[in-house]
This record gives sequence, C-alpha cells and structure tokens, in this order.
Amino acid sequence: MASKKTAVELIALQCSECKRKNYTTKKNRRNTQGKLELKKYCPFDRKHTLHIETKVK
Ligand SMILES: [Zn+2]
Repeated sequence: MASKKTAVELIALQCSECKRKNYTTKKNRRNTQGKLELKKYCPFDRKHTLHIETKVK
C-alpha cells in the first residue's frame, strides 16, 4: 500500500527558545493548515516551551 501521493509528511519540531530540534513527528497536510505549534518539553531548557514545525533536514 505504499504510495508516493501521501499527504503525510515528516516534520521536525524546533524549540522556539533554544532553536534546537527536539522532536520529529508526522503531519497530515490535508488536516493541518499552517505551521504546527505544540507545547513540548525541551530537555535543554528543562521546561515546556513552544515548539514550531520546521524541516527535518
Ligand atoms: Zn529549548
């Protein structure tokens, strides 16, 4: 069932404070519009910060 026409893409979540990429996740472009923003725990800041979608590479 592998298809190249998938709407799901791999993204990285970048900490808005220290700019480190702490997480990778998948996003369905059909369901999600705009940039993904999630509150995640940053091990470098040692607290929850806003993580913003960015490219994996
Ligand atoms: Zn951070």
